[in-house]
Amino acid sequence: MQPWQQALATAFTDPAALLAYLGLDPALAAADPWPLLVPRGFAALMVPGDPADPLLRQVLPSAAEGLPRPGFSLDPLAEAAAERAPGLLCKYRGRALLLVTSACAVHCRYCFRRHRPAPATTPSGPALAAALQALAGASDIHEVILSGGDPLLLDDAALQALLVRLAALPHLRRVRLHTRVPVLLPARITPALVALLTSTRLAPVMVIHANHAAELGAAAAAALDRLGQARIPLLNQGVLLQGVNDHSAVLAALAERLFALGVSNYYLHQLDPVQGAAHFAVAPTRARALLRDLRAALPGYLVPRLVYETAGAPSKLPL
Ligand SMILES: *Cc1c(COP(=O)(O)O)cnc(C)c1O
Ligand code: SF4
Repeated sequence: MQPWQQALATAFTDPAALLAYLGLDPALAAADPWPLLVPRGFAALMVPGDPADPLLRQVLPSAAEGLPRPGFSLDPLAEAAAERAPGLLCKYRGRALLLVTSACAVHCRYCFRRHRPAPATTPSGPALAAALQALAGASDIHEVILSGGDPLLLDDAALQALLVRLAALPHLRRVRLHTRVPVLLPARITPALVALLTSTRLAPVMVIHANHAAELGAAAAAALDRLGQARIPLLNQGVLLQGVNDHSAVLAALAERLFALGVSNYYLHQLDPVQGAAHFAVAPTRARALLRDLRAALPGYLVPRLVYETAGAPSKLPL
């Protein structure tokens, strides 16, 4: 077992154990069919004794998840309708998104795919063959985005096999990874993985996901440095979350930390209205005000694009 697989195997899955580790009342957690999952390295970045810790809030099942809210649905982005083959989402021109696994290194309570059934796609399965065949026939697609779940939970052999098959499609130019692993499971970013990502004909791009500067500790910084040394372009997409990062000072600190680690501040997403996440929503007027504050406080290149997604639009839309 590799160290990162070990780290995943020893992650917190019991809310009471995580709360006890933080010196908090185990009764703070609610039961939820979608279980808690938090690697110990991430838990170590939380402030002990603080029930409002912004990292804890992102991962702890809360009673608020059970409250239905009008407009919050199981598939808020109508992804099912954009599925060209099982696990292959074609929404935007030139890009296709491939769901390669349903596993993640963490369960984020606001995740818009939290109700999605595990995709039939596995790196070797017939469903993947169908997705690759659809990609092969789509010569207008130049970039494939590996997503999930988290594509970096595939082991090196599975990832390598996938990249070889993608590189054989002549119209593909880039392979992008949407991954929270450099933040949540930085040990996964081994020299072997970096070599694998840079060994393909396809230009790699990595989009990480951090919402708060405190998520980016020393281990994540070292992992990002390994990727940056290999000249893999690094971008961040975060989600604007009530009680986590809905203050301009918090967003500014995140922007500064990302810059210090060589990561561009690409997107700040408005929360997708997924059932169970309504308590994370930030009203559009407040979101716009936060961005105005941020533009006044930071150089333009540190300000993320504030966007939202709506089914049927040709791109993510500025708010
Ligand atoms: C977000 C997304 C993309 C990528 O959009 P960019 O604006 O290029 O980052 C591609 N496909 C799908 C289905 C997406 O949801
Ligand atoms: S890592 Fe990404 S896909 Fe996985 S639960 Fe979090 S937001 Fe969802």
